Amino acid sequence: MGDIGIRGDRIIKIGRLNSSPAQNVIDAKGLVVTPGFIDVHTHCDRAIAEVPTVDNYVLQGVTTVIGGNCGGHPYPVSQLFTRITEQGIALNFGTLIGHNTIRREVMAMAMEAPTPQQMERMKVLLRQEMQAGGLGLSTGLAYLPGTFSDTEELVELASVIAPFGGIYATHLRDQAEGITDSIEEALRIGEENELPVQISHIKLSDDKVWGEIERITRPVEEARARGLEVYLDQYPYVATSSGFTSSFPSWAFDGGRERFLARLEDAADFTRIKNTIIQKRLVSSRGIDRLSTIYIASYQHEPGYQGKNLRELLMELGKEPTPDNAALLIIEIQKNGGAQGVFFQMDEADVESLMKLEYNMHASDGGIQIPGQGVPHPRNYGTFPRVIAHYVKNRGVLKLDEAIRKMTSLPAKAFRIQKRGRLEEGYFADITIIDFQRFSDQATFSQPHQYSQGLEYVIVNGKIVVEHEHLTGRLPGRVIYGPGNTLRRTESDIN
Ligand SMILES: [Zn+2]
Repeated sequence: MGDIGIRGDRIIKIGRLNSSPAQNVIDAKGLVVTPGFIDVHTHCDRAIAEVPTVDNYVLQGVTTVIGGNCGGHPYPVSQLFTRITEQGIALNFGTLIGHNTIRREVMAMAMEAPTPQQMERMKVLLRQEMQAGGLGLSTGLAYLPGTFSDTEELVELASVIAPFGGIYATHLRDQAEGITDSIEEALRIGEENELPVQISHIKLSDDKVWGEIERITRPVEEARARGLEVYLDQYPYVATSSGFTSSFPSWAFDGGRERFLARLEDAADFTRIKNTIIQKRLVSSRGIDRLSTIYIASYQHEPGYQGKNLRELLMELGKEPTPDNAALLIIEIQKNGGAQGVFFQMDEADVESLMKLEYNMHASDGGIQIPGQGVPHPRNYGTFPRVIAHYVKNRGVLKLDEAIRKMTSLPAKAFRIQKRGRLEEGYFADITIIDFQRFSDQATFSQPHQYSQGLEYVIVNGKIVVEHEHLTGRLPGRVIYGPGNTLRRTESDIN
């Protein structure tokens, strides 16, 4: 127990400070004071310039978000950094550099290996983005066009980030039956380039592999024993969320959207596409009714579909709820511009077993939300309070200090975020203060647009951004630059 003295953006003293004069005093008696939460797996880059208050993260107690995950980042990243710096943001923001973005810039949607010239061009772009301050390379190997790349391409590209001290973060090629091979691919990319490896949103995403977490822990722990830095992150829910593109065979998108639409007109291609969707998404080895586990989160073409599952939708449309009809509906949705889905595809026991791993951190895999828009995954609003309310308090899966470590110092260590993630003298004053009994997530799958309760204060760089569950509107956040950007890093590190 003691006091925390803050001056400017730093913690300057920890201990007994009752004789020291202070302009503002927060009485945190009976409350839990922790370092601000760091979320290393977000897609906040997509809207952070438009919503600088980042409400749905700050109101979870998050003080730093990392974007650019799963292979996609805002290109060129220097433009976003400039805009954020000029207009201000409520929390700190850093970003990975996305392989899909770089590959699309150079090769569009080609399902082929890069020529030497294309490889050289991708390396130039990646180096440019790292020098602008990227934190590492992210891949989304189940997405387009990352799914068209092979391991050699990724090993070679990742060599660009090694001199900058970056991290390799990956959305694996396969999170189901092929998960061990996919993890080994990631480990090879890290090992050959001496890079830390972050395996994103870890899960066993198919009932065929439920209960088999050694498919994950065996390769990861062997690599850790060899000395490789490997980390996982996880959101605390049994449902995933993504677009429907990954339900399709990747070749369907070779060459881009026009070619995709043309293939749907070809009877043989259409049948192959439909059968792949059925196999990938709509049948279960355990007899689970998949149609009622897949929900539409957002769909611009027909907002009336939002919040409903495929079974409900087919019944409403007067169609029989069969896997065949569900596949036809998914194809129709993709034809009309695509939708974001919520897929219940994990087992609660696996979620808890994975959560206990000491090298696994908590992260949302969410993005910035606008209240009332769509029926998004509740992880966007509830990840951090849910870990504490449900997994620490109700279930006893983790002790509070262990959960906090996995939200603060562990992510800061993995992503080389300097002087954050701990309450220590000389560190930035990023602090979250919660009422432990009341701190809880309110967002549910049917009512996701709900902020947490019991969040007393959030302080970012020494400024209060949340007071008793409400935003103050201050924008004291900063860009977290990767070490490639030596100039700006020096600037923000000045004491
Ligand atoms: Zn992902």
